[in-house]
Amino acid sequence: MNDREFGFRTRAIHAGTPPDAATGARAMPIYQSAAFVFGSSEEAAELFALRSYGHIYGRISNPTVSAFEERMASLERGLGAVAFSSGLAAQLCAVLCVAQNGDHLVCAANIYGGTITQFGVTLRRMGIETTFVPGDDFDAIGDAILPNTKLLFAETIGNPSGTIGDIERLSAVAHERDVPLCIDNTFASPYLCRPIEYGADLVVHSATKFICGHGTVIGGVLIESGKFAWDSGRFPLLSDPSPGYHQLRFTETFGEYAFLIRARAEVLRDVGASLAPMDAWLLIQGLETLPVRMERHSMNALAVARWLQSRPEVQWVSYPGLPEHPHYERAQKYLRGGAGAIFAFGIAGGREAGRRFINALQLWSHLANVGDAKSLVIHPASTTHSQLSDVELQGAGVAPEMVRLSVGLEDTEDLIWDLECALRASSGQSSTGSIT
Ligand SMILES: *Cc1c(COP(=O)(O)O)cnc(C)c1O
Repeated sequence: MNDREFGFRTRAIHAGTPPDAATGARAMPIYQSAAFVFGSSEEAAELFALRSYGHIYGRISNPTVSAFEERMASLERGLGAVAFSSGLAAQLCAVLCVAQNGDHLVCAANIYGGTITQFGVTLRRMGIETTFVPGDDFDAIGDAILPNTKLLFAETIGNPSGTIGDIERLSAVAHERDVPLCIDNTFASPYLCRPIEYGADLVVHSATKFICGHGTVIGGVLIESGKFAWDSGRFPLLSDPSPGYHQLRFTETFGEYAFLIRARAEVLRDVGASLAPMDAWLLIQGLETLPVRMERHSMNALAVARWLQSRPEVQWVSYPGLPEHPHYERAQKYLRGGAGAIFAFGIAGGREAGRRFINALQLWSHLANVGDAKSLVIHPASTTHSQLSDVELQGAGVAPEMVRLSVGLEDTEDLIWDLECALRASSGQSSTGSIT
């Protein structure tokens, strides 16, 4: 059995969770313990010196969290993973593992809003500058990479227009300049895309979304390929003696594990944004059904997108699973088994029609999240961006008529029924029916 290369679906259910050796429990136990007893003083000393591996204290590692990390590393084809209390904590710690005051990042411009403020405001205040560059302008990205640049950051699927990052080209541009590529793979999940297979060095997820799958956990995870050469001289945090770890050099001591060990033993230790065991357990549960959910999400999303295209109340539909989408070919290449659940469309009648549409929906939930089994909707112009004028909205890349959907796992016909009633209401026609 050990020689067999198991498939994705099998690993989504089994990786990291053999039957519990102590009790025989088949499901992963929740190790709800803040700390772990040492076998002896000598063993404790070895653990603290990073000369042997084991659990010390729950901020740094926990057996249930480790099982989730092992499963994520297997699914993303990485060397290992470190879990965090949120997606933003995972990407903050990815940056802090390689960059400090005076360093620089390059980031694709069309990216999650929380990343723009984390990099562009908070990290800038800490002395780490970010240059935001259009994600498809590979020359500009190359030109933006400076001698002190430590990371190129981009997303697999951009929000909300469904642009697909060309991971192979991005990794080539970064690697020509000795810089690692970090991909936020939240919208694709490892089922639709494994960025490491296309040259990414680091992958981050908001596990809050499809990995959990049910809107019940805030969590994040960072996976590393183990292939990047961190000892080139560009990354002193990894290759120079560390004052935070008795002058240890991570690259010299740990080889291919240097990044992962520093991410946990220094960055997670000092930032403290660890994932709780109960939340890790919920994420392990979520991963077991990830393949079936992602297929069904993509199927429902494609059906809803096609249906919306046929409606007079709809101006445009931007789903990378539709042949009309500018990145359709890229989606076919990078996303296997579907184009995901999230896309935007334009409603005729602009901001006011958008407001009426949202108010008329019954089955779709109006909230700021994605990747739930339940179908979700948001109208940015009347919520997250409501303080902006129409001119300012255009500048922010948010059209007043834009509605974003995260298509769930319900019956397709019921989702379309609810959209149809609400579209009629948005254009001033009376709606029909109600949920029974
Ligand atoms: C939600 C999200 C994040 C942030 O994750 P949290 O778990 O909310 O911290 C980052 N990137 C993308 C693409 C997201 O959708």
